[in-house]
Amino acid sequence: MSEDALQYDAIVIGAGHNGLVSAGYLAKAGKTVVVLDAAEFVGGAARTAEISPDYQVSTAAHLVSSFPRRVEKDLKLSKHGLSWATKDMATVALDRDGKHITLSSGGKNDLMKIAAHAARDGDAWKQFDARMRKYVKLLAPLLEGPMPQTGKDAPSRLATMMALRLEKLGPKDLRAFMQLMPSSVAALLDRNFEGDLIKGALSLDATLGNHAGPHTPGTGFSLVYKRALEAMGQGVGYPVGGTGALTEALATSAEAAGVRIRLESPVNQIIIEDGRTKGVRLEDGTVFEAPLVMSSADPKTTCLDLVGARHFEAPVATHLSRIRMEGATAKVNLALEGLPTFKNFTDKEYGGRLLIAPDMGTVERSFTAAKRGELTLEPVMELVIPSYHDPRLAPMGHHVMSIVLPNMPYEINGGWEAQRDMLMKRVIDTVREYAPDISHKIIAGELLTPPELEESFGMSGAHWHQGNMSFDQLLAFRPAPGMANYGGAVDGLYLCGAGSHPGGGLSGLPGKFAAETALAREKSK
Ligand SMILES: Cc1cc2nc3c(=O)[nH]c(=O)nc-3n(C[C@H](O)[C@H](O)[C@H](O)COP(=O)(O)OP(=O)(O)OC[C@H]3O[C@@H](n4cnc5c(N)ncnc54)[C@H](O)[C@@H]3O)c2cc1C
Repeated sequence: MSEDALQYDAIVIGAGHNGLVSAGYLAKAGKTVVVLDAAEFVGGAARTAEISPDYQVSTAAHLVSSFPRRVEKDLKLSKHGLSWATKDMATVALDRDGKHITLSSGGKNDLMKIAAHAARDGDAWKQFDARMRKYVKLLAPLLEGPMPQTGKDAPSRLATMMALRLEKLGPKDLRAFMQLMPSSVAALLDRNFEGDLIKGALSLDATLGNHAGPHTPGTGFSLVYKRALEAMGQGVGYPVGGTGALTEALATSAEAAGVRIRLESPVNQIIIEDGRTKGVRLEDGTVFEAPLVMSSADPKTTCLDLVGARHFEAPVATHLSRIRMEGATAKVNLALEGLPTFKNFTDKEYGGRLLIAPDMGTVERSFTAAKRGELTLEPVMELVIPSYHDPRLAPMGHHVMSIVLPNMPYEINGGWEAQRDMLMKRVIDTVREYAPDISHKIIAGELLTPPELEESFGMSGAHWHQGNMSFDQLLAFRPAPGMANYGGAVDGLYLCGAGSHPGGGLSGLPGKFAAETALAREKSK
């Protein structure tokens, strides 16, 4: 297609990873495709940039744990520059006294370290992990493809699918699963463990990126769902060059297949005529035409702002307006003049996914503070040192550290400008409890508050998942009842971002399934 063409088979809104995956699959099927993004760069929240000259970091999303091998192969991403620095990061729960624990699948040494906190927890973890694997097996097939077609019977068909799979569990596991479904993760963990550290780490995992605390009902299921999504991927990993290298490879692959990517092109209207999509209008008035419009902007923005509620049946519009997406995240990135000294760390632990969540109470208090519009006194966090695996991210011997801060208020009492220095101080003070020399190693740093993440990456509300990943907003209910099949409500419109099934995180699956659904529907006409 020529650079100034305005007519295509498909328009994709958003050059984040899901938009690019969708574009890649559509182009592979022979469609002419243009991708339009408001930002000056490709990648959405998966972007690598400099914090300071020669120090590169994944500015927002920093780990890839659910990206399938299948998508990597289909889109020939290795040919287009993707390689992995690691796919094997262990989750390490940090302990102030250096009695860290690694949540692996049953290494003897790891179990002994867990038992050092509470004698029975070593065995308890082994059993818990094994049971979780069974539940993941149960759920995984539901994440391997689109949900049943939209329609009144979709939820009941989903229930049937789940019931058939539940039959595969023995009575004991079935009872435990039924008990888990409505449980808070706090109740689930209290039933299984005694040690504070393991409960703190697992409760952080269950609530990360959501508007929830350990005591929120349904967060037990969230933990299983997170693991099921991870099972779609290739291990917790990090591309060489950061998460931006994944989206650069997706963009190069799409362009090689003929996709045109146009940046600095904010879409402010999806044009509907006679009940079907005709194209989009940019803020500057330019109109692009296509019978197929795929949007990776969040579902509320896409349907209510870009399309307009009047184009949806009233109950669907109401469901869309009620999608809950309140959980906000902040990010701290640091350039370091050497590795900080974590107490009692082994070499492998430096390369891990490090969690600071000493107990469930601390995680709950951070959620309570966020609900009140306050800064928590004790931030919980997910922290990685990407340069440990990928030394090219920093000058020789130097490092970068990437810290995700969940449970941040989107609107904060007193305003973010007044609070940002305090947040940075609390983050560094907290890390110092585990790595006492951290302050001496910091050369440069940046803090992105939720409104800054929203502004930089076009993420409404700085919400990680474009909608909470709680049972009532997953599977047949994602993004909203009546919309679970990537659209369906308006002919030719598909939702291909994190707000659609199977949800947020760098999996590319919403993008893939939306493209496949659109192609299948076209074929069946
Ligand atoms: C701080 C933070 C840390 C995270 N860490 C991780 C992590 O470590 N691992 C992980 O798996 N996930 C992580 N996530 C979640 C992950 O970033 C998202 O789930 C993922 O980026 C969603 O991808 P997407 O392509 O659907 O949307 P996005 O990445 O948000 O991309 C959407 C794109 O659409 C564009 N857009 C939006 N509206 C318009 C419009 N009207 N016109 C034109 N363009 C538009 C935006 O500019 C953007 O480029 C994190 C999120 C945050 C906020």
